Amino acid sequence: MNVILLGPPGAGKGTQARKIVDEFDFDYISTGDMLRKEVESASRLGKIAKSYMNKGDLVPDSYIVEMIVDNLGELNARNLIDGFPRNISQAEALNEKLTENQQKIAVVLHMNVDDEELINRLSTRAVCILCQAPFKLKSPDENLIVKCNNSPNKDCIIKVRDDDNPKSVARRITVYKNETFPIVKYYKDLNVNLVDIDARGTEDEIFQEISKFIVV
Ligand code: AMP
Repeated sequence: MNVILLGPPGAGKGTQARKIVDEFDFDYISTGDMLRKEVESASRLGKIAKSYMNKGDLVPDSYIVEMIVDNLGELNARNLIDGFPRNISQAEALNEKLTENQQKIAVVLHMNVDDEELINRLSTRAVCILCQAPFKLKSPDENLIVKCNNSPNKDCIIKVRDDDNPKSVARRITVYKNETFPIVKYYKDLNVNLVDIDARGTEDEIFQEISKFIVV
């Protein structure tokens, strides 16, 4: 069973994904998290991806598609997929792989937030560079020290993402509108179960809404 989180940067996909994984039994697949780990470890892919990510552009499909399809698992896998597909050709590649695996998309959760709110949220968002957990800062220059949930003996190393600067945020929102948003129509035309989620409320309100559509 595959659940896809679709929405612009700052819609809260990563935050909701962690709540979904805590409550329901899913393997979490986030292309953004995978790529940030590659960048952090300065791998070959990380070095290539970094320049695209910092500018707010999509990393070319040739690097992404393989990375994700290798992680889809077997027939009964329960995947929560965040950040993929990001354009029609990725959506087509995903369909092809799911058909080959006899898997289906159970639901696409399409999270909607207006641009002003997105920009607002992204200006105080940070992530742990160890576990990728999202954090909300009180102000953009706040220094947070928090115990890491994934490695309890460590402190999270919390940093504002390199791509959460105003120029890159503006670019990512444009890329979302031009390349990613057309996926909504693509899935509707294919009769894939796609639900619109109003993602303007509190984290808990949004999670309540999302939970209604996750079939266990
Ligand atoms: P995210 O954490 O999902 O906001 O992704 C951060 C950045 O990683 C994006 O702005 C892209 O540069 C890159 N990225 C993540 N997922 C993809 C994808 N499916 N295709 C291409 N680039 C991606």
